[in-house]
Amino acid sequence: MKLDILAFGAHPDDVELGCAGTILKEISLGKKVGIIDLTRGELGTRGSASIRDQEAAAAAKILGVTVRENLEMRDGFFVNDETHQLEIIKMIRKYKPEIVLCNAVDDRHIDHAKGSKLVSDACFLSGLVKIETSLEGELQTAWRPKLVYHYIQWKNIVPDFVVDITGFTDLKVASILAYSSQFYDPNSKEPESPISSKNFLESLNYRSRDLGRITGVDHAEGFTVERYLAVNSLGDLI
Ligand SMILES: [Zn+2]
Repeated sequence: MKLDILAFGAHPDDVELGCAGTILKEISLGKKVGIIDLTRGELGTRGSASIRDQEAAAAAKILGVTVRENLEMRDGFFVNDETHQLEIIKMIRKYKPEIVLCNAVDDRHIDHAKGSKLVSDACFLSGLVKIETSLEGELQTAWRPKLVYHYIQWKNIVPDFVVDITGFTDLKVASILAYSSQFYDPNSKEPESPISSKNFLESLNYRSRDLGRITGVDHAEGFTVERYLAVNSLGDLI
């Protein structure tokens, strides 16, 4: 099955927090999008791996993605080595996306930068024909995504470009709140975490409002790039 966009996250909920609005918009424009979670988020302060599995499935339904898979790497301890790169390469060759979205290049959680580099390296390696991979007994062919974009999550990284997500913020927040064990809940008896605060929940709105304010739209999500952005014409920018 071929997808247009494949979004990777070190933990279930990374993709929603970083780029749910963009995914919702691209799907509304007819693009096929999938999500690959690297780990089950089993070290998360709140909830459990099985709860996160259910929450991720519910969020995927809200977003309308075509597929969501989990590679079950070790939360906190996965590394960027050949074994892990090959797991990512298999997913890239399976779904053949033109665009890959992945974690922020730098962030509070160490898995985010690790996942960012791991996916980015695998996107390059996936294009090398002499790296052989097979899936379910079938030899795969080389595939390199044209574009790799990094979404922004915890830290306020300055974006290289933003996507207008006006009209998609309610569903974006709904997909994030599908992870009900993780975020602000005044009735929760679980320990506090940086992402369970009221301020963090509100930051989803005030950050997209602020990026929108600066770029002349209501709400926007920011991304960083690995190479210069190119447009056909100056008028392509909004
Ligand atoms: Zn995360």
